[in-house]
Amino acid sequence: MIKTTTALKKNTTYRFGGICNDFYTLNEKSEIDKIHNLNFDNEYFILGKGSNVVFSDNNYEGIVIQNKMENIDTVFTNDSINVDAGVYLPNLSRYLKDSDRTGGEYLLGIPGTVGGAIKMNAGCYGYEFMDSVNFLTYFDTVDKKIKNINRKNIKYSYRNTEIKNAIILSANLSFIKEDPKKINNKMIEFTKHRKNTQPSAIYNAGSVFKNGPNYYAAELIERAGLKGYEIDGVKVSEKHSNFFIASKNAKALALYKLVKYVKEQVKLNYDIELKEEIIFIGEFVD
Ligand SMILES: Cc1cc2nc3c(=O)[nH]c(=O)nc-3n(C[C@H](O)[C@H](O)[C@H](O)COP(=O)(O)OP(=O)(O)OC[C@H]3O[C@@H](n4cnc5c(N)ncnc54)[C@H](O)[C@@H]3O)c2cc1C
Repeated sequence: MIKTTTALKKNTTYRFGGICNDFYTLNEKSEIDKIHNLNFDNEYFILGKGSNVVFSDNNYEGIVIQNKMENIDTVFTNDSINVDAGVYLPNLSRYLKDSDRTGGEYLLGIPGTVGGAIKMNAGCYGYEFMDSVNFLTYFDTVDKKIKNINRKNIKYSYRNTEIKNAIILSANLSFIKEDPKKINNKMIEFTKHRKNTQPSAIYNAGSVFKNGPNYYAAELIERAGLKGYEIDGVKVSEKHSNFFIASKNAKALALYKLVKYVKEQVKLNYDIELKEEIIFIGEFVD
């Protein structure tokens, strides 16, 4: 396990964040033993690709552990494979396509890792990541033990998996065989849809707010007249109102202010309390 001093902005899609002096990367299984020596009584954060995270502009005083283990089983056993938590979702999607397996086509457009997709229960186009999970292997930061947990013992819902004090190490996932042409067509369809409806993957973290049981956050934001609204270089996307795009030198605080403002306006207009899907880490003083 390598410890470095790292600029967090290099490790998030928004490119926000100060310096972390205790930034650990977990590169291979043999390093897992070394996790035992870290002090989890202090603040810590488990980072994937940072595609759903907004670090504040201040330095981060806690420990960050980034799982960079990226192994995927080469053989399926009863339609299942083990996949490391650091595997990049578009790579998993391509691997499944090459193996003539369906159920991972939607992952091509989600720029996160398996660990992040589990924690967020990432999804789109009717798919949710937890539906493919059989069991997880994780390091329990309280017991300091490696454990397995079956999906049926995990509570999960739309964009949330209740797994606490866990560094997810790997997952056992199921994907069934399919006609490669159908897989290919689905991937083309999803990619086309994304390209037509969403901005590109730079300086944002996908949807800012979760949708509700009977509303789309983007629709409420648009109806409140906030499309294109900007605070200090961070802007509600013209293409998709639930994506907030930062300009190159914008600060995390500007995004924080914009999120707060949009929430206030939607509450004022529709009496609906939008809930953030993106995760703010650190101190934000408006
Ligand atoms: C352009 C774009 C499009 C997107 N489209 C979608 C979409 O269609 N659907 C969707 O659901 N999301 C989407 N997202 C959001 C994001 O990509 C997903 O939430 C993704 O699953 C986050 O993965 P990550 O590895 O980047 O996690 P991070 O952002 O690094 O972390 C997210 C959460 O997961 C936890 N975590 C990460 N790895 C581990 C681990 N190994 N063990 C324990 N906890 C861990 C973190 O602590 C944090 O709580 C999009 C983002 C962008 C930038």
